[in-house]
Amino acid sequence: MIREVEELFERQTRAWPLLANGIEGLARAKTRPVRIDWFDVWIRHIPHRIASTNARVDPESIAKRACFLCPANLPSEEEGISLGEDFTIYCNPFPIVDRHLTIAHREHRAQRIETQFGAMLDIAAALPSYFVIYNGPESGASAPDHLHFQAGSRKLLPIEKDTSGLAGVLVRNYCRNVLLFHGHERTDLIGRFQRVFDLLAEITHKRPEPLINIACFRQADEWVVYVFPRAKHRPRAFYTGELTVSPAAIDLCGIFVVPLERDFERISADAVEAVYREVTLPDDQVLEIVQRLESKR
Ligand SMILES: [Zn+2]
Repeated sequence: MIREVEELFERQTRAWPLLANGIEGLARAKTRPVRIDWFDVWIRHIPHRIASTNARVDPESIAKRACFLCPANLPSEEEGISLGEDFTIYCNPFPIVDRHLTIAHREHRAQRIETQFGAMLDIAAALPSYFVIYNGPESGASAPDHLHFQAGSRKLLPIEKDTSGLAGVLVRNYCRNVLLFHGHERTDLIGRFQRVFDLLAEITHKRPEPLINIACFRQADEWVVYVFPRAKHRPRAFYTGELTVSPAAIDLCGIFVVPLERDFERISADAVEAVYREVTLPDDQVLEIVQRLESKR
């Protein structure tokens, strides 16, 4: 599969100017680390992300626009390759990371993870050397009406390094709350995810889907899964105009996207930490989930 994806990138970079521009834009993007506590977050200045950062994703705005993941509405140059029976891989023309892919379901159907977590694990297994992410419909997905994942190269994936060798479900003193799972057994991981999903929905009173971002990858016959329970979509600083940021899974994995140069120059470790804390679920609710997960073992 990796080779087919490489060939898709080669063909599409030649045939599709929007993608070629996006890849050039990413090559020019400035990245700088900020140190927070014991880990780094990489601030990445990508001007071409501005539309996505500011995107209106309320149901009314979504209903008014043509779905950009439906085959009928794709630009004529855009080409995809099949992944299993249900999904198609496309090159993302507004990349945040190297080899940024969008992996869309063939059908126009709502962004919902509950029955699709196994599919996410399968995609990660088909794309070793990539990470795969899911952004919930109210947690950063710019197409909340069309089921999709994204994927990208693990060349820079700060959370992978930060959490390697850690045991336990919680990552301590990490500013953002995240639940960490490892495992070889697909069915077992799906069961553990379902339990977390149900607890989150119950504790946050949010059905059919709690606010959530997920990242996963496959390494040495094992899946590594990060579940970010969210408190809200965008931070206060976004609405006050202080910072133009709209964190989703990639930001929570440690690549913090800022489309505006002034934010890139001035954003501080404290500001990043504050955004992480504000958009992920508070400690007391996360501890309750962890306690209830452990009491069931
Ligand atoms: Zn669609």
